[in-house]
Amino acid sequence: MKDCSSKHDLLGLSQPQMTSMLGELGEKPYRTSQVMKWLHHRFVDDFSQMTDISKKLRAEFDSIAEILEPEVMSEKRSTDGTRKWLMRSRTGSAFETVYIPEDTRGTLCVSSQVGCILDCTFCSTGKQGFNSNLTAGEIVGQLRVVERILEAQPENGQRVTNVVFMGMGEPLLNADEVIPAVSVMMDDLGYGLSKRKVTISTAGVVPGIRRLKENTDASLAISLHAPNDQLRDQLVPLNRKYPIAELLDASRDYALNLGEKRTITIEYILLDGVNDQAQHAHELVALLQDFPCKINLIPFNGFPGSGFKRPSNRAVRFFQEKLVQAGYATMVRTTRGEDIDAACGQLAGKVDDRTKRSSRYQKIAQQLVD
Ligand code: SAH
Repeated sequence: MKDCSSKHDLLGLSQPQMTSMLGELGEKPYRTSQVMKWLHHRFVDDFSQMTDISKKLRAEFDSIAEILEPEVMSEKRSTDGTRKWLMRSRTGSAFETVYIPEDTRGTLCVSSQVGCILDCTFCSTGKQGFNSNLTAGEIVGQLRVVERILEAQPENGQRVTNVVFMGMGEPLLNADEVIPAVSVMMDDLGYGLSKRKVTISTAGVVPGIRRLKENTDASLAISLHAPNDQLRDQLVPLNRKYPIAELLDASRDYALNLGEKRTITIEYILLDGVNDQAQHAHELVALLQDFPCKINLIPFNGFPGSGFKRPSNRAVRFFQEKLVQAGYATMVRTTRGEDIDAACGQLAGKVDDRTKRSSRYQKIAQQLVD
């Protein structure tokens, strides 16, 4: 049950949650598969369309359950094919979802919160403060909405093959909703995405990573961005609470638990003159020795008033070379959708209630860094 309404939000229920909810209604476990297929394979919006379940259950669903997709408010298309949707959350605020088509895959970048509490200095989402958590149904709903849109345009031949939690918000500060959402995304009765193709990206919420280990085998990316605590304290204030050594420890445990030679993705934003010098590359190499990872370099994407600059392409290549020479698989993330403000760190959504930034949520934010 969700707090905004007393009804079960069906899109966000993992398979075990669905089975237990149906069990409470006196239904047999095989109903789970029928209901989930209607929801996630056939995209029905109305219980009357679920023709292979009893009329009695359909009537019961009408009074105690709901199928609530986020409403699409607008769409922008980039010249490079990237698409960005502004969607309305049930709190009335708006968040963004981005689809990035590539030759052999289509990546959906989903939001987990409206706004963000963490205030990383280089991120525009953080600048607007925090508004609310998205529900599991709203997180799964982003994938469902986009799959439906793509399916209705078969001429483009596009599908979502990968999901990354790199939109607005910090997924591990909303783990109660993110964990079941990830489960539905990877379930064959849901969207059937492979565990390697669903990636949770975190700024470093260590207890969240530990909790994740008990609950999922999705891929993990950590937003490191600096090779030492002194610099990371400034760029990612959460580091003051969970410093680099603890973060790498928890992430290493997570990777070991996955087995199968799976690695963690280290995300490293490149900020001109701040963390992109040779000394930073050397420090990073030393820090990540024996850490099971691949590295994604993200040249800074600008927004008005950020105070940071993107390094030159030459500086980016120089930094990458240093890491490659040290033996790390290192990719530079190409900037996509910049003309529609859809690139990493540019998602702003529309947060109406900014008061939350200055009151209760300011206190929580403070606790996170103290
Ligand atoms: N809270 C999660 C998801 C954030 S967005 C996290 O911190 O990982 C995904 C990535 O984009 C993160 O690595 C984030 O640090 C990075 N990012 C944020 N602002 C950016 C900007 N202006 N330019 C480039 N990358 C940015």
